[in-house]
Amino acid sequence: MSFQKTQTLDLNKVKTIVFNDIDLLLGHFDLEYAQDSDNIFMSCPIHEGSDNPNALSISLDKQVWRCWTRGCHEEFGTDIFAFVRGVLYSRDEPHQFSDALRLICNIYNVSNAKTEYKEKGERTEDFFSDLVRTFKKSDPVTKPTASCLDVHTIGSSPYFESRNFKSKTLRYFGVEDCQDNSCAMRHRSIIPIKNNGKKIGYIARSTKDWLQPKYLFSEGIKKTDYLYNYDNAIDTARNKHCLFLVEGQGDVWRLYEAGVNNVVGLFGKDVSIRQKELLLKSGVTTLVVLTDNDQAGRESKIKINRELGRLFSLVFPATYGKDLGDTSVNKIKNEILINLRGLY
Ligand SMILES: [Zn+2]
Repeated sequence: MSFQKTQTLDLNKVKTIVFNDIDLLLGHFDLEYAQDSDNIFMSCPIHEGSDNPNALSISLDKQVWRCWTRGCHEEFGTDIFAFVRGVLYSRDEPHQFSDALRLICNIYNVSNAKTEYKEKGERTEDFFSDLVRTFKKSDPVTKPTASCLDVHTIGSSPYFESRNFKSKTLRYFGVEDCQDNSCAMRHRSIIPIKNNGKKIGYIARSTKDWLQPKYLFSEGIKKTDYLYNYDNAIDTARNKHCLFLVEGQGDVWRLYEAGVNNVVGLFGKDVSIRQKELLLKSGVTTLVVLTDNDQAGRESKIKINRELGRLFSLVFPATYGKDLGDTSVNKIKNEILINLRGLY
């Protein structure tokens, strides 16, 4: 396998070139940033509405990056190629690995590297296409591409059952694990996303700690275009003139188990422009905001208040525990819902 090893070195070489002069890359994207010894800090250019100047850090030493507010690195990966992919994604530009690598090669004029490798007699083909091929073969961060039909699930979700969700609930939301070793989604739990009654894609949640990224979205799904569970929620929502807003799918399921049908998930902490349109279209007048009880969740509440406060009557119940998905149904009923009678 010395062949593969040599090729991995090539990518590391590109990384080294980038980190020798990272200003060139960040300047190309017009990003404002600050450097503090070995770390670069900036607001996250990947998720929408990031305004904290320390939201994202790049370690020049370790050559990795991390989005502390929204965990964008979990979706794309932590190396510099993944960072470029994330930025391209946020700008609605092609964002495959090859797109990121091509851009980097252009910015840093990396084709020069070809000569060097040729001299060693290790390479006769084009440097760039070699790299792309290698990456497709071996990199675990590349999003596996699979259509809805490709996933073979087992008909239940032992993974989410182990996280104390009722099998009946998981059936209602169509959540099933994939354990098919021939499938790119193995070791993932498949959460369907529906829109107007049609299944348009899915989120694949890793069921193993070692399998990153934690969440994958099926091809073509832009999560900021949807509200999770909107279809199921809308009738009750119109009836009660109210929608509950939560971050994740698990939060939606837990509230459902506690008797709340009019709940939608944001797929994160921020309300995108499209999601705001959907909320306005729903016709509800009250939003109950139950984002996570961590620092980022609190920031998100402030932002939601600023952006939606004049359009809706907002309710911010005090929440207990880290997030709803990890809170017991009884606790939710007794400590949160008890004060929200008539809204669900
Ligand atoms: Zn981010």
